[in-house]
Amino acid sequence: MNLQNNYLQNIKRKVAIVGAGFVGASIAYALSVRNISREIVLIDTNYEKSIGEAMDIQHGIPYMGNNRVYAGGYSDCSDCRLIIICAGRGRKSGETRLDLAESNIGIVSNVIENLKRYYSGCPVIIVSNPNDILTLVADKELGMPNGVVFGTGCLLDSSRFVSCIAEYLSIDIDVLQGFVIGEHGDNQIPVWSRLSVAGEPIDEYCKNMGIAWNEDIQDGISKKVLKMGAEIISRKEKTHYGIATCVCYLADVVLNKRQSIASVSSPLQGEYGISGVSISVPSVLGVNGVEKHLVENLTHTEIKRLQDSANKLRIFFNSFN
Ligand code: NAD
Repeated sequence: MNLQNNYLQNIKRKVAIVGAGFVGASIAYALSVRNISREIVLIDTNYEKSIGEAMDIQHGIPYMGNNRVYAGGYSDCSDCRLIIICAGRGRKSGETRLDLAESNIGIVSNVIENLKRYYSGCPVIIVSNPNDILTLVADKELGMPNGVVFGTGCLLDSSRFVSCIAEYLSIDIDVLQGFVIGEHGDNQIPVWSRLSVAGEPIDEYCKNMGIAWNEDIQDGISKKVLKMGAEIISRKEKTHYGIATCVCYLADVVLNKRQSIASVSSPLQGEYGISGVSISVPSVLGVNGVEKHLVENLTHTEIKRLQDSANKLRIFFNSFN
């Protein structure tokens, strides 16, 4: 048996999901189908709903996922290896994510308050919006070392960004490396300078392939990525499947020791001249959450936009304190 298998056998892959709404239930379903966890407890103020969701997920064919899924309470968190928070309301058509702060700051504070009694130090992923603000709230209230609490941040935006580029280039998404950084919201920043196709800078690739590549094309893609969440909400009132697969990816890193790099949100400590704000930058992820923020060779304009995005979040956060 190799070390990886030994490790997987020895850890209890138990996950708590707080908030069993569309997002929480979709995450539980995705984790189950992919066999990423072994045990999932759903916690929600609407206990009946959490029981119903747990039953529905649990009743699938066993070999399509053999998780134990059940409704529980905060005392079930004491031996969890990962806690995922998706309690709180989602955006309505026409709202920004920041419009959710007033109601969701109180909800996430309440969740952390309840969790504290039983919490034993595992990573906590914040999914609720406004993601960067709520990640900072949870980080401050839980008082853990930097990176143990982190938000999904721009992971979904990065995934949408890379999908749009793949579609434009008519190429498989697997060969693309690219990130969106900054606020998970209106002040997000696609990092054009680091975007590559199988390691080749995208402008060189496009030149080689005779594909048009200029600022207008980049602008069109940026706008499309920015509006994707709102477009889905205007069509079906919710977004939940996309974020569920993103959280699955993060859960796999934490539970199954798959060190990775993703653009997620956690409080910066002077990187890019920013501190005291939770914001997305490419981060090294491991079993304990965010282990390091990568300081990449961004252009002057990208750094300036990141700093502006952080300043706007700081001013917004301070207006609630
Ligand atoms: P939903 O309304 O379907 O579910 C929210 C759930 O939270 C409800 O079941 C509710 O009973 C529960 N809840 C409320 N207060 C609670 C509390 N104090 N303790 C425990 N549970 C509580 O909403 P949803 O569509 O599942 O969205 C959940 C959150 O996820 C929203 O804030 C939404 O904006 C966010 N979201 C984030 C992303 C992302 O990219 N990070 C993507 C989609 C949605």
